[in-house]
Amino acid sequence: MLISCPSCKSKQIVKNGKIHNGNQNYRCRDCGRQFVENRQQKVISQPTKNLIDKLLLEKIPLAGIARHCVGKAAFLCEYSYKKRAIGFTDLKQVSRVQE
Ligand SMILES: [Zn+2]
Repeated sequence: MLISCPSCKSKQIVKNGKIHNGNQNYRCRDCGRQFVENRQQKVISQPTKNLIDKLLLEKIPLAGIARHCVGKAAFLCEYSYKKRAIGFTDLKQVSRVQE
């Protein structure tokens, strides 16, 4: 298990039942802290980033990237869109578009 304690970073984590929404609750055996695995903070894995970067470099239209992202978490698309926006446009232009 790759979960570590948010307080002391210990890997000595035990399962501690589930909370109301069914998410797994954990307890740190070192400091006693209880916490819930936060699925929304999953980071994009480096191979996935590399893949998206590759797709971007090959100038595949965003629609193509979006198709590639089908079935994957929305943040992958978001990442690729942001990356492209920053890579291909001046940051000022990006913020102007968003206004
Ligand atoms: Zn701890």
